[in-house]
Amino acid sequence: MNIILFGQPGAGKGTQAQKLSKKYGIPQISTGDILRANVKEGTKLGLEAKKYMDAGELVPDAVLIGIIKDRLLQPDAANGFLLDGYPRTIPQADALAGILDEIKKPIDAVINIAVPTPILLERLSGRWMSACGASYNTVFNPPKKEGVCDVCGDQLFQRPDDTSAAVANRLEVYQKQTAPLIDYYKGKGLLKDIDGTKDIDVVFEEIDKIAAPFK
Ligand code: ADP
Ligand code: AMP
Repeated sequence: MNIILFGQPGAGKGTQAQKLSKKYGIPQISTGDILRANVKEGTKLGLEAKKYMDAGELVPDAVLIGIIKDRLLQPDAANGFLLDGYPRTIPQADALAGILDEIKKPIDAVINIAVPTPILLERLSGRWMSACGASYNTVFNPPKKEGVCDVCGDQLFQRPDDTSAAVANRLEVYQKQTAPLIDYYKGKGLLKDIDGTKDIDVVFEEIDKIAAPFK
């Protein structure tokens, strides 16, 4: 199962990737999570990425292409992968196509989770994250115990780029740099549109109908 979860910030990519990962035992590869882990550890990569992330800008393509190549070559991705947050630009998508061609793992589907902007804003302002990648929401998807991750037991945190100024910029950046990928993947016959406004479990059922044949 080689799937890209696509959509605007807050569409539910991480939420759905976690559910697919749990059901099929395929890794969720979130470039945002990889970058945040580097920021937390204070690596050179993290220090470079932080200024872009906090402002809601994209980290340069060359950095991301290096990250994704390394990650896709790790043994746990041998049986498939769920890409969450990558690709975000046409050069990233072209680089991905080259890598996947080399390792003979073609993309099965690009699932575009569509959610209107007012709902995205509501979701992101109430988002709490866990270091393991789980995503919660104070209104729509609260953890069992306040402030604690159901999956790994870590303390939840709010992302520095979920402030209203950074969110506004991320949505603009999406329109300019990421939205062109919709036509890019439509042209390859891979794009599947999903209504992401429904409840988390209903959205999952729809996504699973697309994903299951590729298990
Ligand atoms: P993305 O990875 O696309 O940025 P997330 O999966 O982190 O988005 O979800 C953004 C926020 O919206 C989180 O707070 C999450 O709990 C919540 N959320 C995700 N899917 C839904 C849904 N279908 N309905 C309501 N809230 C949702
Ligand atoms: P996300 O967790 O996917 O919302 O990503 C958080 C932030 O990490 C983004 O706003 C970017 O600054 C950076 N980032 C994550 N993935 C990418 C990517 N594929 N290309 C460029 N920047 C990225």
